[in-house]
Amino acid sequence: MEANKYIQLLEKREIQPTAIRLLILKTMMQADRPVSLPELEDILDTVDKSTIFRTLTLFLSHHLIHSIDDGSGTFKYAVCSASCTCQVSDLHTHFHCEKCNRTFCFKNIPTPVVNLPEGFTLTSINYVLKGVCPDCAAKHLTAQ
Ligand SMILES: [Zn+2]
Ligand SMILES: [Zn+2]
Repeated sequence: MEANKYIQLLEKREIQPTAIRLLILKTMMQADRPVSLPELEDILDTVDKSTIFRTLTLFLSHHLIHSIDDGSGTFKYAVCSASCTCQVSDLHTHFHCEKCNRTFCFKNIPTPVVNLPEGFTLTSINYVLKGVCPDCAAKHLTAQ
């Protein structure tokens, strides 16, 4: 049952489901927030690093996942919504916590629409808000 869900997700994006791809997708979905390549390498420490990298590249090119440049110097990756094609209209807001360095997908908050001057064509938006996440805010409160 469980495994079926991941096979369907891969097949929907026209990706051949192999054991390693299923494992990486499952790990990313269970993380429930964007993860960086070093984080994935850490969790999947038995998997060859270049295999993880190649799998992420494949997932990206099939719009199964999206990458987030949160300004931390390390790209983070998150699984896209089922209907996402990574067009500008599909893009959502991200939040980077400056305390714990985690990044969050706000899938229900689309990126704001900006009216560009004539002649400019929009192809992508990297909209990252920065601040403190609820977990870190709570820690701050208990530390006082
Ligand atoms: Zn935090
Ligand atoms: Zn996201």
